[in-house]
Amino acid sequence: MEIKREEIILETDEPPSCEVKWNDWRWQLRNSIRDTYKLSQVFQFSKVQLENLGQVAIKYPFSVTPYYLSLIDKNNPKDPIRMQCIPSEGEDKLYFDIQDDPLGEEKDSVLPGLVHRYPDRVLITLTNICPVYCRHCTRKREWQKGKHVRTQNELENIYAYINLHKKVRDVIISGGDPLILSTGKIEAVLRSLRTIPHVEIIRIGTRCPVVLPQRIDDELVFMLKKYRPLWLNAHFNHPNEITPESSKACDKIVCAGIPVNNQTVLLKGINDDVETMTRLCQKLLRIGVRPYYLFQCDPVSATGHLRTSIEKGLEIIKGMRGFTSGLAVPTFVVDGLDGQGKVPLQPLDYLIALEKDYAILKGYKGEVFKYYNPEGANENRHNL
Ligand code: SF4
Repeated sequence: MEIKREEIILETDEPPSCEVKWNDWRWQLRNSIRDTYKLSQVFQFSKVQLENLGQVAIKYPFSVTPYYLSLIDKNNPKDPIRMQCIPSEGEDKLYFDIQDDPLGEEKDSVLPGLVHRYPDRVLITLTNICPVYCRHCTRKREWQKGKHVRTQNELENIYAYINLHKKVRDVIISGGDPLILSTGKIEAVLRSLRTIPHVEIIRIGTRCPVVLPQRIDDELVFMLKKYRPLWLNAHFNHPNEITPESSKACDKIVCAGIPVNNQTVLLKGINDDVETMTRLCQKLLRIGVRPYYLFQCDPVSATGHLRTSIEKGLEIIKGMRGFTSGLAVPTFVVDGLDGQGKVPLQPLDYLIALEKDYAILKGYKGEVFKYYNPEGANENRHNL
């Protein structure tokens, strides 16, 4: 049973039955649920559960927009949206391989807010604020630093660095969630980046279409359109997140000529089966969003309860490849530790043998067949 708007306790504002308020992204942010008392008005917790949850939230806070909360089935403790945004007891349990910064982003930070790992692209973290704090977030370490937005001085240093590094042709703006900032502030960043001649493309990483679709308003889209070629990376993890509101948000962006790709994180109990992932990716295509990456969940502190095996990811890809459109099949990727970069993984058994003039392959239905390898076959013919 979904949570009714009226059940979301509000202290300071008009009731959410008012459509105008509900569709205002600033209202959604002002009325986000950030304390255990409000949660306990919506979900049933025992006193002990609530205390444990409060303990987790001291170190790893939560924040959920009324919109995203309203998608949860309140009677299902394993609801896939609930598991992504409401802290769990034992979330801070220690696992042997976890770290605060397993990808080594701090090490590759050349300036505050600028990561330069690959030769031709950089990552700007514009803020550490998000409309919803995902329990599986790679940058959970940032939550303990207090909320911040890059200062003008920090941004000027970032622009100067990019200006100086002529090989940088691709800039990714992420966070936190950069679309949490005002349209004017985002525009100032895009305008500055567009004055740098060697910056060819700009990508924005955001979860707003999923957790705060109201943010994708006409003013924002009109502004973004001016700074193309621009790409937007969204972060849908479950088919229940594809709603009329999130579909409309993606449609607006796509109609403005900004392609939307999706990066899913493989999450235990949320999307770690072929049926759910296939449904998610097919629904994404229907709303004009391309399934891009399926990420193995990084070994980040306080995410161990949501991580699953690499075999599971491979099993999902194998169960999708050939059984649905190739466009619906994301690339399964492990992000290498300590800045090693992304490693794409494929099920191992498609290529059984590769000889000079032929390959032995296995099709998606499991049938094994021989396929001639042109160069090698031609060479052998010349030698006859
Ligand atoms: S929106 Fe992205 S950066 Fe923000 S909490 Fe979720 S995963 Fe982390």
